[in-house]
Amino acid sequence: MDNTTLHQLAQQHPSFYLYDQAGILQAITTLKTSFPTVDFLYSAKTNPHDKVIETITTQGFGIDAASVGEVMLGVKHGVPKEKIQFSAPGKTMEHLFATIDHAVIIADSFHELNLLAQLAQERDTVLDIGIRINPCFGFDGGTATASKFGIDQAQLFAQLPALLQQKHLNIIGLHCHLRSQTLDGDLLLQYHKNLLFLAVDFQTALGHPLQFLNMGSGIGIPYATEETALDLDGLGRTSTTYLQSMQATLPQTKFYIETGRYVVGKAGVYVTRVLDKKASQGKTIVILCNTLNGFIRPSLEQMVLSYTNQNNPHNSEPLFTTKGAFQFTALTKSTQSETVTLMGNLCTAMDVMAKDITLPKLEIGDAILMNNAGSYAAVLSPMQFSSQQPPVELFFTKDGQVV
Ligand SMILES: *Cc1c(COP(=O)(O)O)cnc(C)c1O
Repeated sequence: MDNTTLHQLAQQHPSFYLYDQAGILQAITTLKTSFPTVDFLYSAKTNPHDKVIETITTQGFGIDAASVGEVMLGVKHGVPKEKIQFSAPGKTMEHLFATIDHAVIIADSFHELNLLAQLAQERDTVLDIGIRINPCFGFDGGTATASKFGIDQAQLFAQLPALLQQKHLNIIGLHCHLRSQTLDGDLLLQYHKNLLFLAVDFQTALGHPLQFLNMGSGIGIPYATEETALDLDGLGRTSTTYLQSMQATLPQTKFYIETGRYVVGKAGVYVTRVLDKKASQGKTIVILCNTLNGFIRPSLEQMVLSYTNQNNPHNSEPLFTTKGAFQFTALTKSTQSETVTLMGNLCTAMDVMAKDITLPKLEIGDAILMNNAGSYAAVLSPMQFSSQQPPVELFFTKDGQVV
């Protein structure tokens, strides 16, 4: 969508998200062509907007669900049970009871395995389940770390004989997700390879064919302008070769990758109107609508940077990714430029979006556009704060309609 149309939309909506269907579809095509032998699960927590889920699930992607609510989103959009995987720590009997008929449950602990066995016994049935593992290697192939996710590999393998005696549970799959937002294709490839070896060992220990290996996410998107996009095509090609070479060893195994933020992350923008402008102590301050409370991540970035002189503080996904992760575009007719500090209309001074940046001169009624706002944007932002009117979420269809 062109900037003039966005400027016009900002006259109707003081702040809004706009998700671009064509961008989402393009990312889906890239994933499918890069990994032709893999099935994808959309990580619904990154953006559960109805039209977004509809677009993605009608392309055949399943759902990586992290809550009962996300399982139900998949159900609402007609996603079959075997394409919804529910993996999250701390699932209760209520959570399992509510989802057992709608999703493949990935057990996250021994306690959960007990709950699942109990549930299956009460129903006098055998449940097909997956298990999330914390492998004995790190994402980079180094040593493992303590994790709240999944079961440590050594403990899982040690307990497997006992688990296999449990006649109400049928272990059919393995899930692992160790890191988000990687732009290093070699690292991801090594991770995929390590998982394949792990899957073979697991299958051997199971004594029956492994039906799925969910390799989690990790696929990153470039945020800062100096970041280079992951070479998905190259990664996909090599990874596919490895997956295919395992066909004889893992004959029944379906491979899944969770999309994480990859599908929608770059297909969303946030636009907020200039409400006021003032000069203070030699600075020009532009007051925008719904900043910290509408799109929190630029403010979090400012906060992180305020604590350190490091040029590249480590990431804390999904709250903070990198310095300069969001680019600002002034939606204005002005041709002059001006150095400004962008802040919000909240009664806190922490709603800083950017400090001392030079942009085309903004007048009251103009707007600012931020990119990279498709994932972990609306969902992460504290919209209840201060009882403000929240931003609206708009969907730009591939045939040019704004819904
Ligand atoms: C949160 C989460 C994701 C999300 O993807 P990222 O882009 O990596 O943040 C994927 N898989 C699992 C299991 C998750 O918990």
